[in-house]
Amino acid sequence: MVDSMAIEDKVRSVFNDIKEISLRSGRGPEDVKLLAVSKTHPVEALLPAVDTGLLWGLGENRVQEGESKIDVWPEGHPVNWHLIGHLQRNKARKALSLFSMIHSLDSFKLGETLDRLVQEMGLAPYPVLIEVNTSGEEAKHGVAPEDGLPTLMQLIESCPGLDIQGLMTVGPLSDDRSDTARAFESLRLLRDGMSKETGLPLKELSMGMSGDFDLAIEQGSTVVRIGSSIFGVRESR
Ligand SMILES: *Cc1c(COP(=O)(O)O)cnc(C)c1O
Repeated sequence: MVDSMAIEDKVRSVFNDIKEISLRSGRGPEDVKLLAVSKTHPVEALLPAVDTGLLWGLGENRVQEGESKIDVWPEGHPVNWHLIGHLQRNKARKALSLFSMIHSLDSFKLGETLDRLVQEMGLAPYPVLIEVNTSGEEAKHGVAPEDGLPTLMQLIESCPGLDIQGLMTVGPLSDDRSDTARAFESLRLLRDGMSKETGLPLKELSMGMSGDFDLAIEQGSTVVRIGSSIFGVRESR
């Protein structure tokens, strides 16, 4: 059983926290968007969250799981779906048809594949974020920080079908919050440098999850990706 009221309340509460932290950090009240991360949770749990009207969208980290929900999504609850997990190239076409933004562009090769498909499918330039591995952890996807600028320059040169709107990162596993704050700061500084070098605004910084979105907002996040604080803890992943 899904407790719709509880989920609505959680969305409102997270939304208010985001506003409060934004104001406290000298950001505007509308500067930070809320993406609810719906992986492992069923459609019935997502509907009340969407119906609050407070979400920027829903984030899934697997194409197949997203597809299974989008296929049965009822009419009358409009929402944008975002892909936030690693994308295999053989699922790129499906991803483009399901999602309105991909936060996890983690290689030039994937960019080339997406670009070719965008042209083939006749789509408008497709919104993507470049994922950066700011913590250097082996298990994490994303380009190394030092590869950020070269990758961006290659993408600008070869992939007119991509609309590169900014950067994304996942904070370190560390319990030390100053490590986390530093990782988020490093993403913002990297963005500032990449923007200056290329002239692209790169205005979106997708960073911050349930446990660290306060630090991310303080460091300039424009999109926080919140799962467990809205839908409860997951069994795994
Ligand atoms: C699961 C996930 C989140 C949300 O994590 P919570 O800690 O549940 O808020 C955010 N970003 C990515 C990439 C994820 O995989």
